[in-house]
Amino acid sequence: MTDSTAAPGGPDLGGFIAGLPKAELHVHHVGSASPRIVAELASRHPDSAVPDDPDALREYFTFRDFAHFIDVYLSVVDLIRDAEDVRLLTFEVARDMARQRVRYAELTITPYSSVRRGIPAQAFMEAIEDARKAAETEFSTVLRWCFDIPGEAGLESAEVTTELVERHAPQGLVSFGLGGPEIGVPRPQFKPYFDRARALGLRSVPHSGETTGPESVWDALRDLGAERIGHGTSAVRDPRLLAHLAEHRIPLEVCPTSNVATRAVASLEEHPIRQMVDAGVLVTVNSDDPPMFGTDLNTEYAVAARLLDLDAKGVADLAKNAVEASFQTEEAKTALREEIDAYTAGWTG
Ligand SMILES: [Zn+2]
Repeated sequence: MTDSTAAPGGPDLGGFIAGLPKAELHVHHVGSASPRIVAELASRHPDSAVPDDPDALREYFTFRDFAHFIDVYLSVVDLIRDAEDVRLLTFEVARDMARQRVRYAELTITPYSSVRRGIPAQAFMEAIEDARKAAETEFSTVLRWCFDIPGEAGLESAEVTTELVERHAPQGLVSFGLGGPEIGVPRPQFKPYFDRARALGLRSVPHSGETTGPESVWDALRDLGAERIGHGTSAVRDPRLLAHLAEHRIPLEVCPTSNVATRAVASLEEHPIRQMVDAGVLVTVNSDDPPMFGTDLNTEYAVAARLLDLDAKGVADLAKNAVEASFQTEEAKTALREEIDAYTAGWTG
């Protein structure tokens, strides 16, 4: 994917992207564990099957296909066994983000998996909050949480996740999501849980329209009150839906490399991001499960720049879309926009 940095706007657009202050809105907690982080976790649990040598891990992580991604993902899940693992993972993910100049991130966390594995809910919340505060102090990267229901685990996981929100909501929690496979997991059945989370002030950000058709995006809008759509790749098959998203400023969280990895789209060249933009939809670019899909947020911006023929100014506008679509305060949004503008004005590349 290195050739994607040679996008229109100059060969050093990659350099511009690397230093550009960014917001990341669709990225998963366990799915962000890089080989470096997994090596640290594996060394805490020598009985695990996962190698703790970073070189061996890089090989282990080299993305082959979706089944391989699931294997890697589950083996990392198996390394998250206690609150210290949770704290370490979260803080080190923030370090990797800061290195890419991510200034604000809404990290999707699936607390159900950890609580089910025996980590006490309160200890889990304290671990992520410790990491959040430390990351803000040490890296100036602001983290917020989206707690998501793992759709494949059924309504029991929805109930547990909602109860965790009701009884243990950490300070950094801003939104409520729904992940996992979409096929065979209709969105409407989760309405009561989204109603409860939204009643507590959480914003609704379900995955939909990634591997299913546009009707699942309509379901997410109607039944789950979606305020942003995770992926929404298939929305382009329904012009009325695209118009609705554009009119109501409901952003799409687009993750190009992930969409190819999961076969939601056949190739980057066929990614419908341009149709989304042309329809006037607020498009944000995100990385999903970056190390496991062999990518990072900067690479996703370079991919989007290539697919949309963007120059530095266009890329900066894309970064500002993510600021607009984020759940920060207006003051924080203004500050980050100003940071983006100052960086762009000073860019001489
Ligand atoms: Zn996702």
